[in-house]
Parts: sequence; C-alpha cells; structure tokens
Amino acid sequence: MKLAVFDGTRVGVVTGNEIRDVSEVVPFARGEWPPVFVNQMIREWDEIRPRVEDLLDKAPALPLDSVRLEAPNPCPIHILAAPGNYGRHLDEFSATTSVKDLGFFFKASGSVLRPGGRVILPKGSDRSFHHEAELAVVIGRTCKDVPVEEVPERIFGYTCLMDITMRMTRERQEERVLRKSFDTFTPIGPWIVTSDELPDPQDLQMDLWVNDELRQSATTADMILGVYELVSYASSVMTLQPGDIFTTGTPEGVGEIVAGDTASITIEEIGSFSVTVGVADREAPYVF
Ligand code: MN
Repeated sequence: MKLAVFDGTRVGVVTGNEIRDVSEVVPFARGEWPPVFVNQMIREWDEIRPRVEDLLDKAPALPLDSVRLEAPNPCPIHILAAPGNYGRHLDEFSATTSVKDLGFFFKASGSVLRPGGRVILPKGSDRSFHHEAELAVVIGRTCKDVPVEEVPERIFGYTCLMDITMRMTRERQEERVLRKSFDTFTPIGPWIVTSDELPDPQDLQMDLWVNDELRQSATTADMILGVYELVSYASSVMTLQPGDIFTTGTPEGVGEIVAGDTASITIEEIGSFSVTVGVADREAPYVF
C-alpha cells in the first residue's frame, strides 16, 4: 500500500495515477499541533489497515496531479541517519571512517520538506550545499534492543529521502547535525510504501538527477550496514518510535545544488519526487 498525506492533513492511498481519500478511518488529531497523526496512525495500523482496505473501493478517487502531496510523515519523533554507508561515497571524500565507526546522527524533525517543495539555502553563504539520495525506512513498532532478525516485523515501510548537506571546509568542521538540519533540508516522499509490498530493501535501484543531469545511480545492495542492521544497532541505544525515520546513507555521485536547480529522486518500487532550490530572502544572524 502506498500511503500519502495530501492537501494539508488528508491521508490517502495511491493507486496508479489516483489517490483515494481514507481520512475518515484515520481518526487522529489532524489539524492540531504538533502534526503527529501519522505516528499515531502507524502505531495503531493493525486496527486501521482493515478499515482502510474496506473503505478503498468506496473512497472517491482523485487524480494524483490534482492534490498537493505533503511529507508522508510531517512530524517524526526522530530522524536518524547513517553516515558513510556506501564504500564508493567514502572514496569520494577519501574518508577513513564509515557507519561502523561513526554510528548514527540525527537530522532535525523540523527540517522535513514535502515532495514538490523548495529547499531554501542560507543567504550569503560561501559554502557548498549537496544533494544526497537515500532510502529511508519508517519504523512501525517500538524498537528497543531488537536483534537483526526481528527488525523486519518492526518496519512499517519505506520512502525516498534527500539528505541535503552543507559541506565542511578545512577550517570549518561543524557537526553533521547542524550541517544537515537547516529548515527544508530533509525532503521526503512521495509516499510511504508499506513493507509487505517491499520485502527486500537491499535490492533497489536509486537515482538522483539535478535538472537533466543524472548525478547518482546506485543500488541499495551496496550499503555497508543494511537496513535491518542499522535499526538493530540504533535500538541498542534508544527506543525507536512508530513513525520514526532512519535514512540509510548515500551512494557516490553527491554534488552541489544551487538556486534555480531542480533535484529529482527515484527509488525502484517506491516512487519519485522533485524539489526546487532557492535562497533565503534575508541573511541569518550567523552566516555560514
Ligand atoms: Mn546522508
């Protein structure tokens, strides 16, 4: 099932070029702040799924291009991210440490951006800002101290993610959390594909274009630590919650995005989305 959020806080199931509004059987506090209804829906999914399936044939089908897709989880409690999880990407930076040494980091939940949205680069910066195409896993059930073999039953689904990143310089080496958490630096979408439709996350073709140029093209088979290992590892530290997102690292081919660009990601079995790139209207108090 492809589950999307659209037109604010509506929940829909995508089939082909249509979306069916199933909001009436997702009875959570939509429209309130914080917008955590997707986390609540995922937590209660065993009860909600049959209701969604019953409603599907009756729900009005809207053309997909007539709605505004929102981030498929607008407010995950945590966004975890893997640093250095593809060997040839490590080679690009002559990196000597990988996810095995570094563990994981966080991206701010507030940096989530909807598919079709605009990445806003800070004004006045002389830094380089890069795209990173990534497969993101969405947690379905609470995970604490979960062995690798029990992770699959805890996973809700998968989505596409761009881990937008301000690069370091020799002199300026801020933490990843800062460099990857500017508002709008975490586009996700276009929807969540539930894990029953995507049983093997380690065999997916992933591509990213900037304008008409193919920048990244790789398979998730090349991850150093696979999806299940990443989740198990993180669960040894903290309790992962329904709706949490773990983004699994980027392959080779990362590169600069600048104002006026359009970046597009496609992951096999999931889908595609694009974002545009702009610059903030005014300078922040601290210019990086
Ligand atoms: Mn990344």
